Amino acid sequence: MPAAVSPGQEQAARLILTECRSEFSFLHRALALHPAVADMLALAGRCALCSQAFLTTWLECVQFVNLKKDMKMRSLQSIPVRVLLCSYNCFNQSGHVYYGVAPV
Ligand SMILES: [Zn+2]
Repeated sequence: MPAAVSPGQEQAARLILTECRSEFSFLHRALALHPAVADMLALAGRCALCSQAFLTTWLECVQFVNLKKDMKMRSLQSIPVRVLLCSYNCFNQSGHVYYGVAPV
């Protein structure tokens, strides 16, 4: 994960990450000329809910996976699996199965 990133830098990174989805975009081609920036953006994550890219971990959550039902294993246990969300807008949506992890 990159060092401390300001909210403005995060916003710019998200814009670039969104634009770079298309290999025909100007920003996608411009990144080839700036390998250090491309390396930093390669560390980006994707929101488990809306698939929007983000540079820094914004909201860490867990999803409980039932080993027998979801993984077809013999164990009856459920285990927490790390999930990242892009914003409280996604976290506050109803209907998802993600639980926020509070920092210690
Ligand atoms: Zn999201």
